[in-house]
Amino acid sequence: MKVTDHIKQAKSTLISFEILPPVKGKSIDHLFQHIDAIMECKPAFINVTYHRAEQVFKKRIDGNFQQIEIRKRPGTVGICASIMNRYSVDAVPHLICGGFSKEETENALIDLHYLGIDNVLALRGDAAANQKFFSPHEQGHRYALDLVKQVVDLNKGKYLEEDILDEGKTDFCIGVAGYPEKHYESANMDWDLYNLNAKVNAGGDYITTQMFFDNQKYFNFVDQCKQIGIEQPVIPGLKPLTSKKQLQAIPGIFHVEIPTDLTKAIMACKTDADCEKVGTQWLIAQCRDLIAKKVPVLHFYTLGKPNVILNVIKAIM
Ligand code: FAD
Repeated sequence: MKVTDHIKQAKSTLISFEILPPVKGKSIDHLFQHIDAIMECKPAFINVTYHRAEQVFKKRIDGNFQQIEIRKRPGTVGICASIMNRYSVDAVPHLICGGFSKEETENALIDLHYLGIDNVLALRGDAAANQKFFSPHEQGHRYALDLVKQVVDLNKGKYLEEDILDEGKTDFCIGVAGYPEKHYESANMDWDLYNLNAKVNAGGDYITTQMFFDNQKYFNFVDQCKQIGIEQPVIPGLKPLTSKKQLQAIPGIFHVEIPTDLTKAIMACKTDADCEKVGTQWLIAQCRDLIAKKVPVLHFYTLGKPNVILNVIKAIM
């Protein structure tokens, strides 16, 4: 079932999760244990991230180094299919522009369609590890907007090969990313909102936000979206802080602010277990406020911490 149908049919705020495929070579069992734990919360859907291939240098037998491409976390489509089979829960695969040609994207969409998956989250992806700025695949898309347009075309039965006409229409519900604190590359918030509006107008059915630790930033963002005519649901993305290291890492990676009160409380902790308690309490307060304001879904970035999320959900249900 589509994310938007889940939202339409819901009588109260829904729960959803984002998980990452395991690093190549690691067992999938750990991920399934992780999902087993969070199933208790009856998620409406589970998102599975997509990871672009990276260029790495491998030492050859002759001692020289060879540059090769490695996808460290493959398996998004397979994990989505297993989630649907094992748990009868809808899976939302992320699709990214970075590193993919339009044809590879089309083939991935065809695979998803055959598997009965009718949701995608359409993203640009970040710059490759060895690049400063994002650069698209030679035959790929530069912006998530172009990916949204490709999915919309396929939903209309329009394939890349122009002689395939009105055949095999897909029926994907399309999510797009939004940034309550602005996407880090955008010159200003208005420009970012303008680009978000373009994704929504092109066919984005809902928005999932980057994580935030201050609900007011989310509420302001929703208001700003409404002011420019965006009526689609805005799903808040949430994550608990669980260590002091994250005070630096999270703003560095995700370009979001951590409120002073939360920073002070984490800094006062003696152990990571104490940090986890503080982060859990903070997230519980965030969730209670968001539920009171009737947000459609609470979307949790579980990032390997299912028990923390479980404790939060038990506290708010
Ligand atoms: P876009 O919407 O393309 O925007 C990127 C930047 O370009 C923005 O600054 C925007 O304002 C600007 N822009 C957009 N259109 C135009 C235009 N026409 N002209 C000029 N500028 C424009 N990354 C992954 O690699 N894998 C994942 O699974 C993944 N999941 C994510 C899930 C969520 C909910 C979120 C919020 C992010 C996720 N990301 C993921 C990270 C995401 O790929 C990065 O934040 C990326 O830098 C931007 O992606 P986007 O889809 O928002 O890009």
